[in-house]
Amino acid sequence: MRKLCSNTWCQASFEVTESDLKFLDKVSPVIGEKKLALPPPRLCYDCRQQRRLAQRNERNLYKRSCDLCKRPIISIYTPDGPHAVYCPECWWGDNWDPLSFGRAYDQNRPFFEQFGELYAAIPKMSTFRFKDDINSDYTHDGYRLKNCYFIFDGEQAQDCFYGECYVKMKDCCDFLYLTESELCYECIHCQNCFDLRYSSFCQNCSESVFLLDCVSCKSCIGCVNLVQKEYYIFNEPFSKEDYLKRKAAMNLHTHSGVRQLKALALENFLKHPGKALRGVMNENATGDNILSCKDSSYCFDCIGMRDCRFCTGCMMGGQDCQDVDAWGDRLTLAYNCAYIGAGSQNLIGCYYTALNASNVISSIFCMTGVNNLFGCTAIKKNSHCILNKKYSESEYSELVHKIVECMRTDGEWGDFFPPEISAFGYNETVAQDYYPLPREEVLKRGWKWRDQVDEPLNVTRVIEASQLPDSIDDIPDDILNWAIRCEKTRKPFRLQKAELELYRRLRVPVPRWHFEVRHAARRALRNPRKLWKRNCANCQKPITTSYSPERPEKVVCESCYLKEVY
Ligand SMILES: [Zn+2]
Ligand SMILES: [Zn+2]
Ligand SMILES: [Zn+2]
Repeated sequence: MRKLCSNTWCQASFEVTESDLKFLDKVSPVIGEKKLALPPPRLCYDCRQQRRLAQRNERNLYKRSCDLCKRPIISIYTPDGPHAVYCPECWWGDNWDPLSFGRAYDQNRPFFEQFGELYAAIPKMSTFRFKDDINSDYTHDGYRLKNCYFIFDGEQAQDCFYGECYVKMKDCCDFLYLTESELCYECIHCQNCFDLRYSSFCQNCSESVFLLDCVSCKSCIGCVNLVQKEYYIFNEPFSKEDYLKRKAAMNLHTHSGVRQLKALALENFLKHPGKALRGVMNENATGDNILSCKDSSYCFDCIGMRDCRFCTGCMMGGQDCQDVDAWGDRLTLAYNCAYIGAGSQNLIGCYYTALNASNVISSIFCMTGVNNLFGCTAIKKNSHCILNKKYSESEYSELVHKIVECMRTDGEWGDFFPPEISAFGYNETVAQDYYPLPREEVLKRGWKWRDQVDEPLNVTRVIEASQLPDSIDDIPDDILNWAIRCEKTRKPFRLQKAELELYRRLRVPVPRWHFEVRHAARRALRNPRKLWKRNCANCQKPITTSYSPERPEKVVCESCYLKEVY
């Protein structure tokens, strides 16, 4: 079935397949022994994902105070915004009752409008966390963190700085999608790596610099597509002595040395073919950056998915999920949701609903053993609530059927929350990373925009990045009292003491770009979350790949790639 996206500014044509319809039938909730059939999506893949990401501010942190205990806190919500904001301890605590915000459903008004009012009124958690983090206030959406700063969306990290999407890390800085790694710097999409720098899409690599698509390599520099190699430079073998001599001459503790090597490494990368699909141990799967996925299509940055489609960032596995952005972990049967998981099932149109949640529809921040919720927010350990109002089982079933009928008429049933109810300006959210829009366009669509005001930095001087000493060895301790002016955006930024210590320990030059610029540069190293048909540059077999046809890279199919590598 072909459909046209109902967003007036989009109207893209998209395909709804037989298996999509079968999935929708399977995930359609049965309440009071009657099925509430989900219609085929109204919006295209991009517009659906954009809606989900527009609910999420991941990296913008502000200083404010907790509206309950009044202590100063760090928050993803601005101090001048309309929301009541509680510190995590207060939010999780028993000194407030989310049911006291409950309200009756009015069948004469659109459901999302009513949910939006409830959502605006309910206190928000300042930064998402549980109680057991140590010295990691400037982080958001982390679990079991110690001495971390500016890291977002992940769990189990110690002494890590600046990055997004991680599991089990120690002493890492400037990263994107990093798992079970230690002493890594400027790495993206790497697993089980140790002492690795400026590298992308590597597994089990160590003591190496500027690697791309390498597996189990040690002491290599500027290499691509290598497996189990040691002492290679630009894909050529060297003796240990020669390797060490050449490495020392590269002066990788200096800014100029790193810049020079980067140019040479990129030159070498382009001489070698890229793989149509990045990932290992997949079976009957399409997408990019996927590991151990089976019978899944159009999945990006996912690990361990079964029978899933259109999912992104699910790093901890899921089964029978469609249109889900993060995170997984014993997640089954979910549709059009974002940031859900941890033993949860049967979720539709939910944002941040997790920790053994089941049969929850159109709800936000409902956690720990909740079930049978519809249009709720901030509910914990409860069931049979609608718009935060508690009902008996039979009342619940009757009212849900009534609401879904109205939502169907209004074209809301099966949709994710509209960006209009987001707690953030569009430009504060992850949607701006993947679907950037100018201010005027955002306002034209009726969405919010946050005019960013930079807080003045309390420093003794601001130094131009170009005036920094070339070598990390010559950076004085005094730099901690200065700000560095970003080479790209001219925005000043500071170094943290522990961060400088890590640069010295790794012996890497200090950054000359602001965190946001570094982050955007890392993101740009990946292909878009889209697929195209191409032909293998070697055997001409048709391939499905995230490299668009007009790109210059030589892209080959899996079997041609394996012939090149092994
Ligand atoms: Zn669209
Ligand atoms: Zn508090
Ligand atoms: Zn081929």
